[in-house]
Formats: sequence, C-alpha cells, structure tokens
Amino acid sequence: MVNKTCANKTSWEKAVEFHGHECPGLAIGYRATELALEALGSERSIDEELLAIVENNACGVDALQTLAGCSFGKGNLYYRDLGKSVYTIARRGDNNAVRVAVKYGTTFDPNFKSLKEKAASTATEQDRTLYHEAQQKRIKSILNAGTEMFEVRRVIIELPPPASIYQTLQCSRCGEGVMEPRARLKDGRVVCIPCGGEF
Ligand SMILES: [Zn+2]
Ligand SMILES: [Zn+2]
Repeated sequence: MVNKTCANKTSWEKAVEFHGHECPGLAIGYRATELALEALGSERSIDEELLAIVENNACGVDALQTLAGCSFGKGNLYYRDLGKSVYTIARRGDNNAVRVAVKYGTTFDPNFKSLKEKAASTATEQDRTLYHEAQQKRIKSILNAGTEMFEVRRVIIELPPPASIYQTLQCSRCGEGVMEPRARLKDGRVVCIPCGGEF
C-alpha cells in the first residue's frame, strides 16, 4: 500500500535524509505513520487529501512529513503542543481518520540509555560500537513493531478547513507585506502584528 521505493531510495532512507540523522524517535514517527496509512488504505498525500495532526514536535514528525506528504508548508500538518507521542492522519472527503499512539513504556530501554551515556562522554571505540549496534537494533525493532507498541484506532475528528490563500496587504509602518487575516488596523491604518505592538 505504501510506496516504499522511489528513485532507488527507500522511504525510510528519505526520512533519514530529511531529518539529518537516524534515531529511534524518527523510527517511531515512521512506523506510526505507516500503520496509520495502512489502516486508512491511503498513499502519500500528493496534494491535500490527507492531513495530519501531531501532538509533539520531535524527531518523529519529520518521518511523518516525508512518508505521508503532510507538511507544514502545504498546510496539511497541524501541531498540537500536547507533548504526546500521538499521530493522527485523516483523509478529506470521507472523513476517515486513524489515531496512532505509542503505548506507554514500550519504547523506553534502560540498557540503551546507559549505553548512550557511555558513548557520549569518555567513550572508547568499543563503547561507541556497542551503542551503535544497540541503536540499530532498536530502530529495527521499532520499524517492525505492531500493536504491542502502537495503539491504532479509527476516530472521528473535526477536520480543520483546507489551507486558504489570502491577499497580501502592505503594512503602513514597516512597508512589508502581511497576510490579510494577520493584518491589524491601528488608527485607521493597516499594520502588521509586530508594528501594531502586539508582541
Ligand atoms: Zn532524531
Ligand atoms: Zn509592519
């Protein structure tokens, strides 16, 4: 269902490239997205038919952006600052949505943490190798995890309206352009928010 290869690069490799490094957090977001897309029966969002709501702004969100095609710039990625490892993907049109949550305690590995600490400070070559191996193993197990790590369920959500394109007005103070809904009126003149003194 999910297109795994494109231009000889797996979608995991693409996520790693976009994110800048390979890490367990990225793997969590990747697998959560994959499970959500599978449950939805959807492919990567070419335009805006899919939208995602993420409840954290950590590594995993980068995987979601590359794999689901829901991104900040396209306006189909919504960030709710709740500090939770929860990813919801919805499809416009039929209002289908799937919420994937990491089950508490399933991604924490105390052994990995001590290896990481060792590898960080006065690491020997062997410490670094051990850490690298443990990390690869952990990433692999996350990428293959199912319901033991992730809770996947269909939900009904209120879909945010599609991204709109607004007119750009000119701020009468700084002269820069400002998207119409963000423009303010001050003494009868159009100003941007910083010039209007709302900061
Ligand atoms: Zn990361
Ligand atoms: Zn201004």
